[in-house]
Amino acid sequence: MSDKITVSSSDFELVSGLEIHVQLNTNTKIFSSDSAAFGAKPNQHISPVSLALPGALPKLNKQVVEKAIRMGLALNCKINQVNYFDRKNYFYADLPKGYQITQDNKPICQDGFINVKLSNGTEKRISINRIHLEEDAGKSLHDQDERFSCIDLNRAGVPLIEIVTEPDIRSAEEASALLTEMRKLVRHLNVSDGNMEEGSLRCDANISIRPKGSADYGIRCEVKNLNSIRNVRRAMDFEFARQREVIGKGGVIIQSTLNFDSDQGTTSPMRNKEEANDYRYFPDPDLVPLHISDERLAQIRAEMPELPAVILKRLMTDYNLGLSEAAVLGDDSDLFHYFTSGLQNIQQPKSLINWLTGPIRAFLSDNKLTIASFTLSPHKLSEVINLVDEKRISHQVALQRLIPDLLNRPESDVLQLSTELNLLIKDNADELYQFVEQVLAKFQPQVQAYKNGKKGVLGLFVGEVMKLAKGKADPKKINDVLLQKLNS
Ligand code: ADP
Ligand code: MG
Repeated sequence: MSDKITVSSSDFELVSGLEIHVQLNTNTKIFSSDSAAFGAKPNQHISPVSLALPGALPKLNKQVVEKAIRMGLALNCKINQVNYFDRKNYFYADLPKGYQITQDNKPICQDGFINVKLSNGTEKRISINRIHLEEDAGKSLHDQDERFSCIDLNRAGVPLIEIVTEPDIRSAEEASALLTEMRKLVRHLNVSDGNMEEGSLRCDANISIRPKGSADYGIRCEVKNLNSIRNVRRAMDFEFARQREVIGKGGVIIQSTLNFDSDQGTTSPMRNKEEANDYRYFPDPDLVPLHISDERLAQIRAEMPELPAVILKRLMTDYNLGLSEAAVLGDDSDLFHYFTSGLQNIQQPKSLINWLTGPIRAFLSDNKLTIASFTLSPHKLSEVINLVDEKRISHQVALQRLIPDLLNRPESDVLQLSTELNLLIKDNADELYQFVEQVLAKFQPQVQAYKNGKKGVLGLFVGEVMKLAKGKADPKKINDVLLQKLNS
C-alpha cells in the first residue's frame, strides 16, 4: 500500500470566521478625555488614565456606546441592554495596566447577520456572533533606537469595537466582500473612518479546511493583524494551500496563532494552543455594568440613517435606475449625501443623477478630486442643471465654462455669473436663422447629399451652427430650424 495520500484542491473547502477590529472615530478615548486622533507625535495624547498611574479611574465615553449600538443595529444584532467590562490580563510593554479592558461574557451586541453581494450576482449571509467594546493598546516602536525599544502610548485607550463573525465564510472572495461591506457601513454610520492603512480597520482571520460535503469543522489557525483586504485574501490562499498539503501528507493541523508576512505572502507560527495565554478574564471592578435604557436605545434607533442596502433599493425604484448606476450613488456615502442635498433644489432629479454619475464623476476623476473636496455646493450644481434643463444654457457650455468658473468663485450667484460671462442661450430667432443660412450656404455638396437621402449629415450642420452660436443655442431649436429650411 502506498503511504502517499493525494488530495486535490477540489476535494476541500475553506472555512473561516473573522474578528474585525474597528477603531471608532470619537474625539476622545474610551475611558479618558485624551485625544483619540491619529498621527500626533509620540506620547502627546496621554494622561494618568492612559499611563495607568495608581489611583487613576476609567470613565466610559458615551459616544463609544452609541456608535457600537449603531453598528449592532445595522448588523441586525440583539442589543444587550445590560452588559459589562472585563479585564483581559497579560503583560506587554505597551500595556501599562497589565490588562486590557474588554468585554468577554456579556458583549454589547450579539447574534446578528450581514448579507454581502458576490461577483456571480448571488447574496451570501454571514452570521455575526458578537460585537464587543474594548480599548486599544499602545505601540512598541523597534526602529527608533539602536539599543532600545520605544513606547508610544497615544493609542492606549483608543476605542475599538471587535466584530466577530461565525465561521460562515467559504472563500477569499466572500471575506473580501464582507470587509468591503463593513468598511462601507462603518463610514456610512459615522462609526469609523474605516481607513485600513492607518489601522482603523484590521482583522484576524481564523482559517480551517475540511473535505467538501463534511458537516464538521477542521482545526483552525488564526492569522493575526491583517491590515488590508488584499492581505486577507493572500493569507487565506496561502493557508488553504498549506493546510491542504499538511493533510495531503497525512499530517494534522495544530491549532495555532500565525503571523502574516506581507513581503513573502506566507504565514509563520507565533504560538500554538499549548503556549496560548490564559487571560484570566474577570469583571472590571472599576467600571459599573453598563445599563442602556429603553429610551436611549429607542432614540439611537430613531436616529439611525437609512442603510446602504435600503438606499440602493430605493434609488432603483424611485428613479428607475439599474443596479450599477444606483451603486455609483449609493455606495459612496459622500456622493450620496451630496445628491441628497442637491435634490432639495433640483427640478428634475433624474438630471441630477445623470450629471453626478456622468460628467461630474468624470470631472472629479480627471482632476483627481473627491466629491468631498468639490467646491461647488450641491445647491449651486442643481441651479446649473436647472438652467440646462430649462434650455437657458447648453450642456456643453455649462460643463466647460460655467462649472469651472464657479469652482474658482464658489460664492458667486449662478445666474448672475452666467449673465456676466455671457453664457446664456440667446433666444434670438433671427440670429439663429442667419447662422443656419450661413452653414447651408457653406456646405452645398452636403446639402445636396442630404436631399439625396443621406440624412446623417444633419449632425454636421447642427455642430456648425452651434459653433457659430458659440455654444449658446439650444440644439433642438437648431435642429428644428435646419429641418424647416432643408425640407422647404
Ligand atoms: P476564541 O474565543 O478562542 O477566539 P471563538 O469560538 O470565539 O474562539 O472563535 C473565534 C473566531 O474563529 C470566530 O470568528 C469563529 O467564527 C472562528 N472559528 C471558529 N471555529 C472555526 C473553524 N473551525 N474554522 C475557521 N474559523 C473558525
Ligand atoms: Mg479569538
